[in-house]
Amino acid sequence: MPETLVVGAGVTGLSTAWYLRRAGHAVTVVDPSPGDGASHAAAGMIAPVSEVVHQHDAIRPLMLASAAAYPRFIADLERTVGYPAGYRPTATLGVGSTPGDMATFRDLAEVQRASGMTVEPLGVRQARRREPSLAPGISGAVLVADDHQVNPRMLMEALTAAVCAPAGPDGPRGRVVTRRVLGVEREGATVTGVRLDDGGELRAETTVLCPGLTLSGIDGLPEARCVRLRPVHGDILRARVRPGHPRLLEHTVRGLVDGRPVYLVPRDDGEIVIGATEREDGFDGVSLDGVHQLLRDARILVPGVADLELTEILARARPGTPDDLPYLGGVPGVDGVVVSTGYSRHGVLLAPLCARLATLLVTGPPPGCHATDRTPDTTLLATTSLERTS
Ligand SMILES: Cc1cc2nc3c(=O)[nH]c(=O)nc-3n(C[C@H](O)[C@H](O)[C@H](O)COP(=O)(O)OP(=O)(O)OC[C@H]3O[C@@H](n4cnc5c(N)ncnc54)[C@H](O)[C@@H]3O)c2cc1C
Repeated sequence: MPETLVVGAGVTGLSTAWYLRRAGHAVTVVDPSPGDGASHAAAGMIAPVSEVVHQHDAIRPLMLASAAAYPRFIADLERTVGYPAGYRPTATLGVGSTPGDMATFRDLAEVQRASGMTVEPLGVRQARRREPSLAPGISGAVLVADDHQVNPRMLMEALTAAVCAPAGPDGPRGRVVTRRVLGVEREGATVTGVRLDDGGELRAETTVLCPGLTLSGIDGLPEARCVRLRPVHGDILRARVRPGHPRLLEHTVRGLVDGRPVYLVPRDDGEIVIGATEREDGFDGVSLDGVHQLLRDARILVPGVADLELTEILARARPGTPDDLPYLGGVPGVDGVVVSTGYSRHGVLLAPLCARLATLLVTGPPPGCHATDRTPDTTLLATTSLERTS
C-alpha cells in the first residue's frame, strides 16, 4: 500500500488527503495546528461567477470546474461521515449601494455572460422581495443563482473525520500528526519524507506540500524557489441573530458601497459572516479601520446587522501569487513531491478540483493514458504548473 504524506491540514491538505485515501493510499497529514490557517477565517463562498475579475481569464476554467464538482464532493463526504458538511446551495445577490456601484455590476455582467455565466438584473423592489432585509435605499441588484457557499470549519471537521475513519471501502485509515515540518528528507533528487520539530522523521513514497503561505519555511527544497507567495491579509467578522429572533438573510449578499466590496454570508444556524478586507501591510493582527469599514458598509446594505450579536473578529493571510493562479504541480527536477498552494481568495472554491488533480499527480495517469496525453486535466495543470513563472 503506497504511503503518502500531506503537509498542512487546511482545506487544501485535508481535501487532498481524503482523495488520496480513496485512491488507496495510507495517508499521514502533518500540521502543528490543523485548520487554523487561512481556511479558519474563510467565508466559504463558492463563487465562480461573482469572483470574475477583468483580465483574470486563466483561473476561470479552474473555478468553474471546481464549483461544478462541489455537489458530488459534498454528497460523497456526507455519506462517508454521516452528518452535514455545511454546504448551502442558495443563490447570491450582488447589491449596489449607489448608481456607480450598479454600473460596476453591469460592466462585470458583460464579462460574466461572455464566459457563459448567468447573471440576472433585479430592480430594488424585486431584490427586496427576495431579501426583505436589504435597505430600501439600495440602487439595485443582480441575482447569481450559481454561486453557493460552504462553512469551511464544518467542511474541515468532516474531511478530518473522513481521513481518519476506520479502514473500509473508502481506503485505509489515515491519521493526523500535530507536529511542524521543518524540512524534507531527500536521497539525491528524490524526496523520501519529512523532518519534524520534535526531531522525528516520517518517510513516504510521495510528500504533498499544502502549507499555505509558509512553503518557504520548509527546508531542503531549493528547486521550489519558483513558487512566489505573498500574504494578503483579510479581516473578517462573525455575528449571529439574537436568541428568539428570526433569520436576517437567506442569500449570500455581495455588495459594493461607493466601490468598496463587502459581503454577508448567512449560515443555516443563524450565523452571518461579514467580510473581508484585503490588505498587503504584513500586519497579522486585526485592523480596527478594516473592521469599522466592514460594519459600516454591511449596515448600509442590511440595516438589521446592527441588531446582531458580534461573536468573533479575526484576521488571516491569504496565500497570494503574482498572477492569482495557484501552484499545483511537481517540483522541477525533483521526484516524490507535489506542491499545492497559492490559493489566494479561492482555496475553498478550488478544493475539490485541486484535491483531485493533486491525487492524479501522485497516482499517475489512469490505466490506458500516458503522462504526455493531452486531456482536460493536463490543460488545467498546465495553468497551475510551478514552472510557468520561470
Ligand atoms: C478573510 C478571508 C476570507 C476568505 N474567503 C474565502 C471564500 O469565501 N472562498 C474561498 O474560496 N476562499 C476564501 N478565502 C481564501 C481561502 O481561505 C484560502 O485560499 C484557503 O484557506 C487556503 O487553504 P490552504 O489549505 O491552502 O491554506 P491554509 O488554510 O492556510 O492551511 C495551511 C496549513 O498548513 C499548516 N502548515 C504551515 N506550515 C507548516 C509546516 N511547516 N508543517 C506543517 N504544517 C504547516 C498550517 O498550520 C495550516 O493549517 C478567504 C481567506 C481569507 C483570509
